[in-house]
Amino acid sequence: MITLRQLTKTYGRGGTAVTVLDRLDFEVPTGRIAAVVGPSGAGKSTLAQCINLLERPTSGSVVVNGEELSGLPEKRLREARRRIGTVFQSSSLLSRRTAAENIALPLEYLGVTPNEARARVAELLDRVGLADKAGHYPFQLSGGQAQRVGIARALALRPSILLADEATSGLDPDTTRSVVGLIRQLRDDLDLTVVFITHEMDTVRQVADTVARLDHGRIVEQGTLVELLTSH
Ligand code: ADP
Ligand code: ADP
Repeated sequence: MITLRQLTKTYGRGGTAVTVLDRLDFEVPTGRIAAVVGPSGAGKSTLAQCINLLERPTSGSVVVNGEELSGLPEKRLREARRRIGTVFQSSSLLSRRTAAENIALPLEYLGVTPNEARARVAELLDRVGLADKAGHYPFQLSGGQAQRVGIARALALRPSILLADEATSGLDPDTTRSVVGLIRQLRDDLDLTVVFITHEMDTVRQVADTVARLDHGRIVEQGTLVELLTSH
């Protein structure tokens, strides 16, 4: 479960200060997929960075499974980040590493033993349907496959939250459908709480249980998919 309360992010100070997120309230129950939509400049990337703790909010709170994360000191913040896995737009895979090595990166960084890392990577490759692509380099993967590797990497540290930041943007419709199907499957299997940030309404229809519309740093509309689609 993720709860954002009165989340505010202001860049700069004084006369040139820009408030990008403005006392935003948002909640995603455990096991749900919540889409966040909104026009360019609405604050979606900033919201993503506040959720995965890469940016500190100016005020307000980020609560994950009952624990307040926004005010933690740097060391505890690094630990807290493991609870949130992020999938970025069109694969940020390292080109000189194989699929398996890319997935292993967070484990390596954390000092997980090579044996345990190997087992975890094999399990993750299997989960994302790429057991036979372990040794492939990113250039040998299709867009959809690369994004599946990105998802596996995001799950390497067994987070309870999956944050997808424009994760299907740039993929063709069929590939998007297959990646979205995978995310829903993983949510079911791992009981993930998913925040799916996108500007693509077609994708929202396929993936989301609930939808929040962000505009000028505030959630201006929020509800189930059916509620939002019937109000337009
Ligand atoms: P979106 O992802 O919805 O397009 P962003 O979160 O990228 O929105 O940006 C929202 C607003 O915040 C934009 O007006 C952008 O210029 C501003 N912004 C984003 N990051 C910074 C920053 N580091 N410094 C100043 N302004 C920023
Ligand atoms: P996906 O839906 O998993 O992205 P695609 O329909 O894009 O799969 O690709 C189907 C098959 O074609 C894949 O199994 C992959 O091996 C191969 N393929 C697609 N694009 C490429 C590519 N750029 N380089 C190598 N193989 C590719």
